[in-house]
Amino acid sequence: MSARARIGVLALQGAFAAHEAALKRLGADVREVRLPADLDDCDALVMPGGESTTMSKLLESSGLFDPLAKRITDGMPVFGTCAGMILLASHVSDARPDQRSFSAIDIDVQRNAYGRQVDSFETDIAVKGMTEPLHAVFIRAPRVTRIGDGVEVLAEHAGAAVLVRSKTVMAAAFHPELTDDDRVHQMFIDMVEA
Ligand code: GLN
Repeated sequence: MSARARIGVLALQGAFAAHEAALKRLGADVREVRLPADLDDCDALVMPGGESTTMSKLLESSGLFDPLAKRITDGMPVFGTCAGMILLASHVSDARPDQRSFSAIDIDVQRNAYGRQVDSFETDIAVKGMTEPLHAVFIRAPRVTRIGDGVEVLAEHAGAAVLVRSKTVMAAAFHPELTDDDRVHQMFIDMVEA
């Protein structure tokens, strides 16, 4: 793809505005996605952090869940952060039984799994392909408890993967949109434009 990528940001709930700002800084053409029709002219989608239970419900009530599941199956690149990672996982533990996820990347996650003391924390992590460390903000983050075949671990923290990628799906347990370091968003744009 040679034109500028048109990247949708799921804007039902959560930290979508900060993702939009990061993508715009990198020159992407950004669309907010709230309804099924908003997806039509998107080449890719970012699913933000927020509250995955609420987001799952809003995905159903907006009618977005099924069309989005189809686009993901058809190979549209997707990047999920925190709650977005939870929504992309194969299996989610400590979730309400009616919480749905897209099974878009073969990982299992446990919600809010870093424990009460360190519910939210910041730390520097090493990311594959980056020469300088990345400052990562974790907010009631999910913990990756299983990595399937074909999933590449791009960064780890405290013995668990925190940035993972398969062919068309990338997921972060932390919030790259909350710092002004745009390297993770650039990785995603590179995936979209590859
Ligand atoms: N704990 C939230 C959830 O389970 C995710 C937190 C976040 O996205 N910052 O949905």
